[in-house]
Amino acid sequence: MKLLIVGGVAGGASAAARGRRLSEQAEIVLFEKGPYISYANCGLPYYIGHVIEDRNKLLVFTPEQMKKRFNIDVRTSTEVLRIERQEKRVEVKKIDTGELYMESYDKLILSPGAEPIKPLIPGIDGTKVMTLRSVQDMDKIRVAVDAGARKVTVIGGGYIGLEMVDNLSNFGLEIHLVEMLPRIMPLIDPEIAFIVQEHIKSRGVQLHLGKPVQGFKEAEGRLVVRLHRYEEIECNFAVLSVGVKPSTSLAVKAGLDIGPTGGIKVDDYMRTSDPDIYAVGDAVEVKDFITSRPALIPLAGLANRQGRIAADNVFGRASKFRGAQGTVIVKVFDLTVASTGASEIKLKEAGIAYEKIYLHPTNHAQFYPGASDIRFKLLYSPEDGRILGAQIVGVDGVDKRVDVIAMAIQAGMTVFDLEECELAYAPQLGAAKDPVNMAGFVASNILKGDCNTLFASDVPVDEQNPNILVLDVRTSKEYQQGTVPGAVNIPLDELRARIGELPKDKKIYCFCRAGLRSYIANRILKQNGLEVYNISGGYLTFCSSRPEMAYCDEIVPKKVK
Ligand code: FAD
Repeated sequence: MKLLIVGGVAGGASAAARGRRLSEQAEIVLFEKGPYISYANCGLPYYIGHVIEDRNKLLVFTPEQMKKRFNIDVRTSTEVLRIERQEKRVEVKKIDTGELYMESYDKLILSPGAEPIKPLIPGIDGTKVMTLRSVQDMDKIRVAVDAGARKVTVIGGGYIGLEMVDNLSNFGLEIHLVEMLPRIMPLIDPEIAFIVQEHIKSRGVQLHLGKPVQGFKEAEGRLVVRLHRYEEIECNFAVLSVGVKPSTSLAVKAGLDIGPTGGIKVDDYMRTSDPDIYAVGDAVEVKDFITSRPALIPLAGLANRQGRIAADNVFGRASKFRGAQGTVIVKVFDLTVASTGASEIKLKEAGIAYEKIYLHPTNHAQFYPGASDIRFKLLYSPEDGRILGAQIVGVDGVDKRVDVIAMAIQAGMTVFDLEECELAYAPQLGAAKDPVNMAGFVASNILKGDCNTLFASDVPVDEQNPNILVLDVRTSKEYQQGTVPGAVNIPLDELRARIGELPKDKKIYCFCRAGLRSYIANRILKQNGLEVYNISGGYLTFCSSRPEMAYCDEIVPKKVK
């Protein structure tokens, strides 16, 4: 067996190592057009931010190590130009010398990754507009930072843009984050993204939302980023991170099938339309685990697993890829933001029926010092409670909750299963009723009909709606510090005594800070014959969902000293 692999980083290097573990006899050749293989793309922002000081730590395996440990023939600075499928061979170019040669294969795995998107904007090819994909890109940005940059513009509020903002802030630079959409983080829902926006602003980053870049201009050693309506940002340089597109030129030239999203089409075994050619990683189109639609989900975990799966299949082990649910996590200053499965926006687009809840539990037992809030949104099926997605933001404990939900989604579990999850608990590390259990309790209460729920968007703008009474059951002190416009206040502990003050002919929209006290109020009022609804996530979610109507300082979970 002679296996050729194109692309020597996440997917390609995984495929090569797995291939060797399965066959000592195979000839395995790994082509990489850049000078490095098997490096940690995900670590690049942290070298720029001087968090990772030793550059070599990013190079997980050198070609020499790959040869020694796995007996892989690694050819760096070598680009595969073309595939001749009939002859089963590829044309290869040594970049340094320009020498061309042919290499035959029995099986071929493509892992060429993705390229940063560069929209057609005047001046975008200037040297001060940089992208971050490779070690060389990283070196350029770090040189620019270390040369004494004072002001930087980051364009694109996705995960990589946010990591750049976070890392660049380590040097006290003036940072501008420009985003074409009216909100950052398009993969999560706007009311959750709002929490992150507020946090970023509180750290001095200047946010320019809803402002597409119109052009770049270099003048007197500076870069001018022109936004719409002639607004301009003058800075030392800009980092462009507006997304990536799959690298498909080899596949296209070879006539392999390309899917509707523009990624290389593969089956469950990572096989392309040619049975001798596999493709993995950012270049391929995957099946979305929730919507079953074709999708592009460029993540390292997927590329690594797919590389392994492709190698399994090459060497005769039938191995299937289950589809991608897009589990992502990012750290932005003090906050960790994570999501898994589908967002509400995605479910709406796909026409999938969903129910949602918000909750704000603490990361660990409240009585133990250092507890901080978690903002948690869970999406699930109204028919059977199957979990469809989650978005979680907090200072601590976000990673473990998102991973539990990710596994629950993969296992096809329901909110009723979340109620029963037996999770690790000690006061400093969790809660006897873990946030995951709490999410299960809240959602199943709704499905069982114990509590009618509605959302911030359902609260009428017109405070005088005669059919609705908005009831705040927080303490009068909390009420005085800010409430939903038009809400009346009866603190929970006075509710039984003052129930006669509530009209029986109106719907009561009830809320507290986070949703727990109002749930108890709901139970009291419902059992007393009133038509009552709980505003999911309470005042905190109301404020992040409708900041034009109310604002509270507690929207962003705080680090507890
Ligand atoms: P790559 O790792 O990009 O490798 C493709 C390689 O193929 C490239 O080195 C390219 O030079 C080579 N190549 C292309 N064409 C040819 C050719 N014709 N001949 C020879 N070689 C070729 N994902 C996460 O899950 N978590 C993170 O925290 C995270 N952070 C990231 C941070 C940054 C800054 C970046 C850029 C990405 C991050 N990612 C993260 C995404 C992750 O790195 C990618 O999903 C993953 O690297 C994709 O693996 P791949 O093998 O498909 O492509």
